[in-house]
Amino acid sequence: MINHLQDTITLNNGLQMPGMGLGVFQVENEATAEMVKNAIEVGYRSIDTAAIYGNEAGVGQGIKLALASTGLKREDLFITSKVWNDGLSYDETIAAYEDSLQKLGLDYLDLYLIHWPGKDKYAESWRALEDLYDQGKIKAIGVCNFTVAHLEKLLTFARIKPVINQVEFHPRLQQVELRAFCDKHQIQLEAWAPLMQGGLLEDETIAQIATKYGKSIPQVILRWDVQNGVITIPKSVRRERMMQNANVFDFTLTDQEMAIINSMNLEQRVGPNPDEFDFAL
Ligand code: NDP
Repeated sequence: MINHLQDTITLNNGLQMPGMGLGVFQVENEATAEMVKNAIEVGYRSIDTAAIYGNEAGVGQGIKLALASTGLKREDLFITSKVWNDGLSYDETIAAYEDSLQKLGLDYLDLYLIHWPGKDKYAESWRALEDLYDQGKIKAIGVCNFTVAHLEKLLTFARIKPVINQVEFHPRLQQVELRAFCDKHQIQLEAWAPLMQGGLLEDETIAQIATKYGKSIPQVILRWDVQNGVITIPKSVRRERMMQNANVFDFTLTDQEMAIINSMNLEQRVGPNPDEFDFAL
């Protein structure tokens, strides 16, 4: 279990990835540079973006500014992006990767992910990711929004196992079966929408636990992620909230409190169901 914002989890290829990072979904390109600079200055080392967010250039700008203001080096950071569903042929995936690198102003990514499985179109895309990985252009490759069925299929032809499956995960959607499958196959689970995109901010059950520790509801949820060994990437454009979200290493939820939050699962999503949604259509 991580004990600090910059502590890492070892992925199945040996790469160290920070257990907590910053998500930048739904942030305008212009605002992203300042956001990313702030995050790195307050101690975040992992940033999660995607081609479809339209803010990779902003992320790149923020990285540049932060490296200048902190004296950190590129290799102190862990940068993730994702190939969108319109790039799922082999050639389109390679081109999408080069495009992301160019927008980010980087010469490698730490982690590159297939954003959505689509309707079984990911085989070619995965082959492209494997080749980019073999060529040393990416430090690790993985997927998002893959169900057990998608992963089972991927594992039948993958030469390289995904290091990560990034999925919607929060107290109302706990992905029990998928987590067990990922654990069995040493695929690290990473939580998107860990705060349910703000949907749990009034929750009475978590509020009671938060009051006991003098913490906020987001802090209790993120602590629950940490104690579950799930990598988490809460998004906030506000520096104070970034700091608040990272301040979860000075208290421990009891087994009983973990069980109370575990009992909140309703299989309730804020995002699309990967089995029903094909963004490429
Ligand atoms: P989150 O669950 O991280 O929630 C973000 C929302 O919570 C924002 O409205 C933010 O507001 C608010 N918030 C953050 N911290 C606090 C706080 N301490 N107190 C009160 N409100 C708070 O949602 P996301 O969808 O952004 O998920 C996180 C990341 O996961 C994304 O940014 C993205 O990188 C990734 N993702 C990946 C997907 C995929 O398909 N692979 C899909 C969706 C997300 P404010 O910014 O104003 O503080």
